[in-house]
Amino acid sequence: MIEEFIRCPNCKETIQLNKQEQQDGFFQCPSCAYTFTGNDEKKPIPLDSTWSSSGTFTTKYKSHTIKVVVDYGKEVIVLVDDEVVVNQPYQQSFASEIQTVDFTIPENKKKIPMKVNVFALHGSTFHLQCEIYGNGKLLLNQESKGSKTIWYILIVFFLILLLISILIGN
Ligand SMILES: [Zn+2]
Repeated sequence: MIEEFIRCPNCKETIQLNKQEQQDGFFQCPSCAYTFTGNDEKKPIPLDSTWSSSGTFTTKYKSHTIKVVVDYGKEVIVLVDDEVVVNQPYQQSFASEIQTVDFTIPENKKKIPMKVNVFALHGSTFHLQCEIYGNGKLLLNQESKGSKTIWYILIVFFLILLLISILIGN
């Protein structure tokens, strides 16, 4: 099983795999035509992982599935029911940044306003967080997997320090 959003092991382009490709474990890159068979030396890199500064976020609005793909430093992609509705370049700045994406979902001849805010903080720690609003209501507020990593490392570090201090104390 491969993750849905990955980087091509050959050209590093971000690609979305369908359910079949994820299950079968092989695919062809639409950008460079590289064929991944599963036995390749180079493995696809998941976009959303513990060691990644990118992230993917999924939520539901009524019957629609909304996916936000933050390719850090590169682009922010919004998919509604697996159709790309927004693909905007990532605006990078010195220490932190907010990416705002506005789009609509058609529903009963009306257009429902949707909003995505992506917050990134990059200094001594890294933090990536995504908020998704549907018709003004908060649907999702989530940190990326990579964002949580630093806290796990810090907790483990302090537990080791505590253990050492207890051992020395005795
Ligand atoms: Zn490729």
